Amino acid sequence: MGKLNVTILRYLTREDFRVLTAVEMGMKNHELVPGALAAAIANLKAGGVHKLLRELCKHKLLTYERGKKYDGYRLTNMGYDYLALKSLSLRGSVASFGNQIGIGKESNIYIVADEEENPLCLKLHRLGRTCFRNIKSKRDYHGKRHKASWLYLSRISATREFAYMTALHDRGFPVPKPIDFNRHCVIMELVNGYPLTQVSEVDDPEALYDELMDLIVRLGNSGVIHGDFNEFNLMITEEGKPILIDFPQMMSTSHPNAEYFFDRDVNCVRELCRRKFGYESSTYPTFKDLVREDDLDAEVHCTGYAFTKEMEKDLLQEYGMVDPDSESDSENDAHKEPDVRQDTKEDLIQYRQQMESEMKFAEEKAKTAKEKSDYSIRKY
Ligand code: ADP
Ligand code: MG
Repeated sequence: MGKLNVTILRYLTREDFRVLTAVEMGMKNHELVPGALAAAIANLKAGGVHKLLRELCKHKLLTYERGKKYDGYRLTNMGYDYLALKSLSLRGSVASFGNQIGIGKESNIYIVADEEENPLCLKLHRLGRTCFRNIKSKRDYHGKRHKASWLYLSRISATREFAYMTALHDRGFPVPKPIDFNRHCVIMELVNGYPLTQVSEVDDPEALYDELMDLIVRLGNSGVIHGDFNEFNLMITEEGKPILIDFPQMMSTSHPNAEYFFDRDVNCVRELCRRKFGYESSTYPTFKDLVREDDLDAEVHCTGYAFTKEMEKDLLQEYGMVDPDSESDSENDAHKEPDVRQDTKEDLIQYRQQMESEMKFAEEKAKTAKEKSDYSIRKY
């Protein structure tokens, strides 16, 4: 685990950012983005896109690959990271980057700091990779391979996490304070504590058990289930207070498989308290005890962080949130692999519009961000 190498952010010019964004837009419909399409989307006044594309390849933000039908550019993990980090630093949410502090199942976690040098936590969502570990487990489970693109999945994962974290934090749930997000990156409060995996002793296991069960019930009464309520996703602060993290797989209590996942969360807590602290109790919450008091599940859809029902379905599938007893036709539901069809004029107009709005968004945010010219990182 090392540092995020962000020196390149300083050298990324406005034109580089534009060309990189153009390839990102092109990848919505293409595995590989032909140079001519990238040039058409980027629409640089001075031209010279091909030279910039080559430079971006040299810095490993893009790759140039030979496809079966045609050759083209592909955005790399690093390229996607830079687009997000550049946007976040332009608007002043992040001013400096520090060490990696964790590797989760579906993410990399870093310490970063804002302009006042307050430490924050940066989570880079990494889903749908052709990572052997992931594919193997998912093949075993569905007997099929998922095809949704990593750009698409990582982005909704981060969006969903930010939306849930915001709704939970607003209601006073013990979760990190959400700060900002862009693409597949989420910035949140850095929790001052340790994940429960690293805690071998607590003063009062019974109190912790009750507190965790109470949290599961309060979530349930608000209309949601965490879905991965385990010792990796619970942190204990210096004061011994549990903080819940990791939200992209959260689901509604109205979901057809809700009871299964509610019980699984409850059993997780029973099992971890028994194994770690030798504590067992005969009382534990059940799904039918829940009383609807809030509609947090519906509200996250109204936050303006756009994700559709279809996106949600794709994501929950990626997280394995499907009841093993229910037969799901995952093949039909899976997001389509970007195809290689010819672009129409309308496609091109749409790509350009998307890119212009991305650029405008980044620039406007940057303008409203506090002016501090000593951060070279924020200069184009
Ligand atoms: P994943 O979805 O990959 O499991 P998590 O959100 O669970 O990612 O984070 C992985 C690990 O990173 C956690 O187990 C924890 O150790 C650390 N971590 C995550 N968020 C924070 C945070 N806000 N503050 C401090 N540490 C964190
Ligand atoms: Mg986790």
